[in-house]
Amino acid sequence: MNPPIRILIHGASGRMGQALSRLSAERDDIQLVAAVSRSKPAQRVVDGVPQFSVAELHGVPAFDVAIDFSLPAGFDAILGLCLERGAALVSGTTGLGPEQRAAIDRASARIPVLWAANFSLGVAVLCELVERAARTLPGWDCDIVESHHVHKKDAPSGTALVLGACAEEGGATPRHAAIRAGDIVGEHLVQFTGLGERVELVHRATNRDVFARGALHAAARLAGRDPGSYGLRDLL
Ligand code: NAD
Repeated sequence: MNPPIRILIHGASGRMGQALSRLSAERDDIQLVAAVSRSKPAQRVVDGVPQFSVAELHGVPAFDVAIDFSLPAGFDAILGLCLERGAALVSGTTGLGPEQRAAIDRASARIPVLWAANFSLGVAVLCELVERAARTLPGWDCDIVESHHVHKKDAPSGTALVLGACAEEGGATPRHAAIRAGDIVGEHLVQFTGLGERVELVHRATNRDVFARGALHAAARLAGRDPGSYGLRDLL
């Protein structure tokens, strides 16, 4: 059996980070070697996993893949560390700026990188359906309404922007609306409206484990690959 892939989680104390830590413990092919959060950890080791603050990032042990679900302000540091260590990066952090997206492109010449706005299989399928609907319903209004919990910082969501790009591929000109309410994990409605009829395509995530499982799966498959920019579909 191959040795387990050594994973670092960046954004470990967050909602996604906690799901990643819990689910990685269920997999034999993955070993969590470091958990990094913005603040100094209350405990140095939790369930056998060393904990670090971002200020201590350069002291983390060797790892094969970093999984980053943090915030745009923390992204540059983890990308820089992966480049320094020659490690792969899987990131689901949304709200990145154009310079950060350009940095991902440059980094992909040196390390394997996968950034995805959404790690669920359902959204990958929704994207295909949206493009098809847009192509078959020319001239219809296209509206994307996304709903998330009140703590979500960016709007429209990264997923809504990707769905918008899929709609544009099909020839539609999407409009965006965002709702921030309660503890909604993530809902995306893409609505095509014609005269006297309407088509609604909806994805509802009821549990963020779906994103964490997708990211762990992608990390396991990204380790050891050639440098490059990978998409979720390349790895699933
Ligand atoms: P959260 O606020 O619960 O957690 C954020 C984490 O990032 C915390 O651990 C915090 O310590 C860390 N952090 C914040 N600022 C930092 C900095 N400057 N440097 C280093 N670490 C920092 O957020 P969440 O709900 O877990 O979401 C995290 C990110 O993942 C968001 O960008 C969210 O939009 C995105 N997300 C993506 C997907 C997907 O499938 N791609 C799914 C869910 C969430």
